[in-house]
Formats: sequence, structure tokens, C-alpha cells
Amino acid sequence: MDADVIVVGGGLAGLVAAAEVADAGKKVILLDQEPEQSLGGQAFWSFGGLMLVDSPEQRRLGIKDSRDLAWQDWQGSAAFDREEDHWPRKWAEAYVDFASGEKRAWLHAQGVRWFPVPGWAERGGYTATGHGNSVPRFHITWGTGPALVEPFVRRLREAEKKGLVRFCFRHRVTKLTASGGMEDGVEGEILEPSNVERAAKSSRKVVGDFKLKAQAIIVTSGGIGGNHDLVRKNWPANMGRAPAQMLSGVPDHVDGLMQGVVERAGGRLINADRMWHYPEGIDNYAPIWSRHGIRILSGPTPLWLDARGKRFPVPLFPGFDGLGALEHITKHGDDHSWFLLNKRVIGKEFALSGQEQNPDLTGKSIRGVLKRGRGTLTPVQKFINAGKDFVTADTLPELVSKMNSLTQKNLVSLETVTREVTARDRDLDNKYGKDLQIAAIRSARGYIGDRLIRTVKPHKLLDPAAGPLIAVRLWVLTRKTLGGLETDLSSRVLKDGKTPLGNVFAAGEVAGFGGGGVHGYRALEGTFLGGCIFSGRIAGREAAKLVK
Ligand SMILES: Cc1cc2nc3c(=O)[nH]c(=O)nc-3n(C[C@H](O)[C@H](O)[C@H](O)COP(=O)(O)OP(=O)(O)OC[C@H]3O[C@@H](n4cnc5c(N)ncnc54)[C@H](O)[C@@H]3O)c2cc1C
Repeated sequence: MDADVIVVGGGLAGLVAAAEVADAGKKVILLDQEPEQSLGGQAFWSFGGLMLVDSPEQRRLGIKDSRDLAWQDWQGSAAFDREEDHWPRKWAEAYVDFASGEKRAWLHAQGVRWFPVPGWAERGGYTATGHGNSVPRFHITWGTGPALVEPFVRRLREAEKKGLVRFCFRHRVTKLTASGGMEDGVEGEILEPSNVERAAKSSRKVVGDFKLKAQAIIVTSGGIGGNHDLVRKNWPANMGRAPAQMLSGVPDHVDGLMQGVVERAGGRLINADRMWHYPEGIDNYAPIWSRHGIRILSGPTPLWLDARGKRFPVPLFPGFDGLGALEHITKHGDDHSWFLLNKRVIGKEFALSGQEQNPDLTGKSIRGVLKRGRGTLTPVQKFINAGKDFVTADTLPELVSKMNSLTQKNLVSLETVTREVTARDRDLDNKYGKDLQIAAIRSARGYIGDRLIRTVKPHKLLDPAAGPLIAVRLWVLTRKTLGGLETDLSSRVLKDGKTPLGNVFAAGEVAGFGGGGVHGYRALEGTFLGGCIFSGRIAGREAAKLVK
């Protein structure tokens, strides 16, 4: 045996799993195809948003949340309806218990802290039993993604000094192997050393091979979002066609190939057609990985228009139902849509996802975060200046003309846009009215966090004092894989819904964040990092228990 446990993939799920194995006093090898500087995978780049339920941060702002409300929301979003949802549903319930129970205290004890104003992601807009968060629950880690990765890397580096952990970078697993009929080893290729910057595409030149044996294998290799061929292959049947052009919200290493490796060994992949991509992507003017796109996190005010300038139907307002908006775009055969807003709105309502786009939160700068909600954030301004997807104008005719020049397709109708914007603005003449987006903006401002830093006072988009007008072309951005390897509540990979595949475990995105799809069809957000932590912790602890 080369170790007690082998972990395949050094993203958050792998780090957590390996740290738990080492904490149990067992020897673990952590393999990753990428070079050492990319340790931490996607989580390092993340915004660090975590779903916590009934937290002190929520209570301080008067948010009444509970395990029951969170479970109601989860079920409304997941809409589990398949036979394969047996384990995902069990995982979902266990995860909601974790998010409303031990999660915050466990992370807090390891030094993790949160920005005091929880965000209100995926607001739904349907009935109380439908999709979405009834209350704000998106807790941004103070220090964003890097600060969430740090405690687990620290634990592993300490265990490495004790001889319990061995890191093998540039080791790409291509096969699970068995002895005595029991999968307990891995084989693969050693890739040439690489000094690319963190998360940049690294070479795939093979310089050797390897074979390793252990008593248990934990697969934590991430999703498929960086592999657009796989995304297209698995594109859900009810979502039209995948756009011809998409951006990538994840690094190239999120290649999904390890899913096939486990499938070939007999593990079952379920819910492969469930994915969580974003319709609000913009092209990154300073890309790190291939087709690098950034997601806009918008407050509720911008008008969302299709490629022709027609407003999206209710409740597809920014931040309400991401997948619903995506479906609206792809079902119409489009590859882009538009946000229409003005300078006042962008100043308060636009943020960007990702740690590098939030230097104030990532750098733990109190002075920096106090500027939030008081004018355009510097990273957003950089996109306005250098990005390809923003146009600005003083009048609607000028704006539409610029939108059409940008796409070179002349699709946007000035008549349609004028009608949409003036009708919407006219509905503001009373304190009440029929436009549900305006009603939603008024309701959002009932939450102090939104009123302070996220949602502008309702006003006419054409008010010259709030201008100039801005239009942003939005691309589809691939990100999360909701389906995955089917696992039981011990994180053991299953062959057929019942029988474990040898001593193989899976956690994190490759396992659909638990069970093979803990989110069902839709996510409440902030549930992916938490899903990696929860499933990685279980996989590590259960694998360690199995070791003789
Ligand atoms: C910009 C950005 C912002 C995000 N923001 C949030 C957020 O605010 N909240 C939230 O909940 N989620 C967020 N996410 C999602 C979350 O970060 C990911 O879902 C999560 O980190 C996935 O972790 P993982 O360990 O499962 O996989 P990964 O991080 O993808 O790690 C998998 C690792 O496995 C390695 N690997 C793959 N195949 C092999 C192989 N065959 N052999 C060896 N190694 C292999 C890869 O190189 C990689 O290092 C964000 C993601 C991004 C990119």
C-alpha cells in the first residue's frame, strides 16, 4: 500500500476530505493534475458565498430564518421528481440540517468569518412553495474564496510535516484499479512540470505514468463546466439548444473527464443533464483561463431584455431565477441578452462574482467595503472602460444604435425598447402599480441590507439625473454541474443505487455536491462550497473509518 487513502483532486472537497483523513491519523496521498500553485481549485477563485441558516448575521439584521423555512425553500428549488433522486433528496435534508446546525460553528472554529450583511440570492418570485430563497442567506466569507481554502490547506501542511500527507501534483488519474475485485487503486499519467499562473491552462504533455494503491479512494475531481463539449452533450432536453458561443466561469481543469473514469470502473452517474450555468456573463478583458467570463451579480432593478429588446417575462428579474432566465434565452435560440439600466443603478446594484473582482472583501478592507452601495465599484468601472460588453448613451435611440453596432446584427428594435422603458417608467407615477418588477424592488428595500448596499430607490430609468443609460450584453457562462456520481450518505460511490463500488468515495462537485445531485434542478446559491465541505468531510471521515 502506498497510503491508507488516496484523494483525487485538490479542490475544496479534496482538501477537506484529505484533512479529515489526516486528522484521523491515517496516511493520505492527494493527487492533482494541476501544478502546486493551483491548489484549492475553483474555491480559491470563488466569492466565498455560503448558505447559512438562522445565523447571528441574519438575526442581527432582523432576518427570521429557520431550518423549516430553508428546507421548504430547498424543496421548492430542487423539485426532485426522479427515481434517481433517492440519495440526492436524503443528502439535501442532511445538508439543510448542517447549514442550520453545525456548519457555521465548525468553520468559525477554524478561523472563518463572514461579511455582516447576508446577500439575497435567487429570490424566486413564485409562490412560497416554489423556487428561491424566502430570506437573505448568502454569507460572504470575509476574505472570500482564499480565506475559505486557507484553513484546510493549513491543516494539510501541518499533517504533511508529520508524514501523514503526501501531495502529488501533475498526476492525472485515468483509471481506477481493483485487487481481489475491490477497487482500491489508481493509475494515471504524470504531466510535465508547469509554471503557468494559478488556474491558467497547463500543458497536457505526458512525461511518465504512475500506479498507486490504498485501502480507499476518494474522488473529488470537480464538475464539467470547463469542458463545453460535455456541457453541450448533457444539455437538458427542455432547455432549447446550448448557445453557439458560451463563456467559461471555471478554469480549464474543470474538465469532467474523471466522471468517465469512475463510470468505466462501474460507478453510476446520475442527473447529468442538471447544470447551473449563468445567463449574466461578461467577457473578461483580462482572462486567466480559456473563454474566461465573469458573472454580474445584479440587484433587482435593471430591465432584462432579450436579443431583440423585448423584456423578459415575470419573474425573470435579475437575481430571481437564473435558470428560468437561461431557459428563456436558449428556448428562443439566442446566445445573448441585455441588461438595460443607468449610472445610478450600476453604482449601487452591480457587483461581480469571484475573489479577484472583490478586492475589498478579499483583502479584508473595512474601509473598502464601506464604499459599497455608494457609486460604481472599481472592478465594475474597469469593465465599463475596458470590457467589450458595455455601451453607454444619453438617449435611448443612441443606446440602441450602439447595442446594434456592438453585435453587428441589428436585432434590437428601438420601438420595442422605447415601449418597454417608457411603460415601465410610467408605472412609477403612483406608489403602487401593476409592474411586478417595481413591486419587487419596493419589497427588496424592506430588507435593510438591500436598502443600504444593493437596491436603488425606485426611479425612472430615463431620469436624466440618474444617467447616462447603460446596456450590457450578457453571455451564457458555464459554471456548476448539479448532477454527478451517485453516493450514499457515507459518500460511497454506488453502482446501481445500492451496491458500493469497492472502497471508492466521491465528494464535491463530481458527486453533485452529495448523492449525485443534492440541488435537484435549481440551487439556492452559496450551496456549492458548503456542499464540498459537507460531502468532503463525510467522505474523509468514512474513508478513515474503513482503514484497518
Ligand atoms: C469564480 C467562481 C465563483 C464561485 N463562487 C461561489 C460561491 O460564492 N459560493 C459557492 O457555493 N460556490 C461558488 N463557486 C463554486 C465552487 O467554487 C465550486 O463548485 C467548488 O469549489 C468545487 O470544488 P471541488 O473540490 O468539487 O472541485 P474543483 O475545485 O474543480 O477541484 C477539482 C480538482 O480536481 C483536479 N482533477 C480533476 N480531474 C483530475 C484527474 N483526472 N486527476 C487528478 N486531478 C484531477 C482538478 O485539477 C482540480 O484541482 C464559484 C466558482 C467559481 C469558479
